[in-house]
Amino acid sequence: MTFDYHEPTSLREAIELGARFGVDGRFLAGGTDLMVQIHRGRLNPRHVVSLQCVPGLDAIEVDGAISLGARVTHRRIETTTDFQGALRALVEGAEVVGGHQVRNVATVGGNIVNASPAADVVVVLLALEARLTSLGPAGERTIALDGFGTAPGVTVLRPNELLTRASFPRLAPRTATAFLKAGRRRAMEISIACVAARLTLDAALERCQDVRIALGAVAPTAMRARSAERYLEGRPLTDEVTREAGRIAATECRPIGDVRASARYRALLVATLVPRVLARCLERIRFHTS
Ligand SMILES: Cc1cc2nc3c(=O)[nH]c(=O)nc-3n(C[C@H](O)[C@H](O)[C@H](O)COP(=O)(O)OP(=O)(O)OC[C@H]3O[C@@H](n4cnc5c(N)ncnc54)[C@H](O)[C@@H]3O)c2cc1C
Repeated sequence: MTFDYHEPTSLREAIELGARFGVDGRFLAGGTDLMVQIHRGRLNPRHVVSLQCVPGLDAIEVDGAISLGARVTHRRIETTTDFQGALRALVEGAEVVGGHQVRNVATVGGNIVNASPAADVVVVLLALEARLTSLGPAGERTIALDGFGTAPGVTVLRPNELLTRASFPRLAPRTATAFLKAGRRRAMEISIACVAARLTLDAALERCQDVRIALGAVAPTAMRARSAERYLEGRPLTDEVTREAGRIAATECRPIGDVRASARYRALLVATLVPRVLARCLERIRFHTS
């Protein structure tokens, strides 16, 4: 486990190093995934390029579209005042990542590029229909988060590309978000299943006008529950309807069984968590609109 450590001080230098090392190099943000994988021998990069001293990757922008720089930590998300209202799912996703020490250094960019099916903040960003911006020797490109991860640990990002930010549109009126995670413990626990939703109600605050539901840890990548979304559109959000949406979401996920839970238990969790996140969204919309 030896590698050369590089500490570029500009984006341009970081990109040049990334281009020079290609598949032999890895960018390092908080290191909470990368260093664990290197220690376990799962990854063996010859060059590690730290993003610690690269300026411009840690901004949170909330004017117009919302944008999170790749090096924004989970702790920053947890404590950002602008996310305490309708965007509360971001806080709920960030505040359950690991423990305090992890959240102080672990970043949004690392959560996305690591591409774990159980990455909590990724599930929230999927419900928010986030788009990613990457920068490489060929310039900037925008990639939808949906489809960015193709298998556990695998993404469409090229080895010499740096993720710079994740952005999503400002929420429409009468919209709220929520996130719930099930694990065996309340902290330092990877999700057994997690669910995020972004819900917009109609003007009467009764029917679902628009909804996005994202699921984590129940498929090879974080996924949208599209059939459940389609079922909900235009319907009144009664308990019966949201329970049915949960049942539909449970049939479209593709969980595995492992040491932490069986596949069947994970699907049951989805059926339970979907109505609960929708109920939270409803409560939040009614509270903020009344
Ligand atoms: C004890 C512990 C508990 C954890 N609990 C949770 C949990 O509950 N929920 C959860 O979702 N995660 C959890 N994690 C995983 C981890 O903390 C998160 O995925 C975190 O967001 C990773 O961010 P990082 O900055 O540490 O990434 P790093 O480890 O620095 O990087 C991760 C990967 O992304 C790449 N990368 C990082 N930034 C960029 C960039 N800007 N451009 C291109 N590539 C980049 C790296 O090369 C590496 O492949 C836990 C980890 C530990 C050690």
